[in-house]
Formats: sequence, structure tokens, C-alpha cells
Amino acid sequence: MGKRKSSAKPPPKKARPKLETTFACPFCNADKSVSCELDRETNVGAVKCSQCKAAWTTKIHQLSEPIDVYSEWIDACEEENAS
Ligand SMILES: [Zn+2]
Repeated sequence: MGKRKSSAKPPPKKARPKLETTFACPFCNADKSVSCELDRETNVGAVKCSQCKAAWTTKIHQLSEPIDVYSEWIDACEEENAS
């Protein structure tokens, strides 16, 4: 007899979600092959494709996020293609 008390433990709070830092490559079209690193000390953002080794760096500022560097890269690629 007796009810079993289910120990309802709340799930541990998740740490804040990691920002997306891998993206699709505009050169080889591999998904999530491009990783992005931001160097806050030298203010340089670097993207690199692990598949085709395409790489690009740009200047960043304090509020830059990996997605910003990536989209700048895409813009730069398109400009190159356009000319
Ligand atoms: Zn690639």
C-alpha cells in the first residue's frame, strides 16, 4: 500500500544555446563544413571550409558574431563572381 511519490526532479537548466558557428560552404556546397572563429584580441574573424579548404578572413568588431563573418564572406564571394 501507499502511493509512491514520484520524485519529480526538474530537468537541469540548460546552458544558453550555443551560437551557430558552422555553415554551408559557398564553394563546395557542403553543409556545415565552414567553421568560423572570432579572435577578439586581434579583431579578426576567420572562416574556413573543412572540405575544400576555402578560407577567408575579415576585420570584426566587438559585436560581430560568426554569422556576421560568414555572411560577409558570402557577400564578398558574390561580388567577386559579379565582376
Ligand atoms: Zn567548401
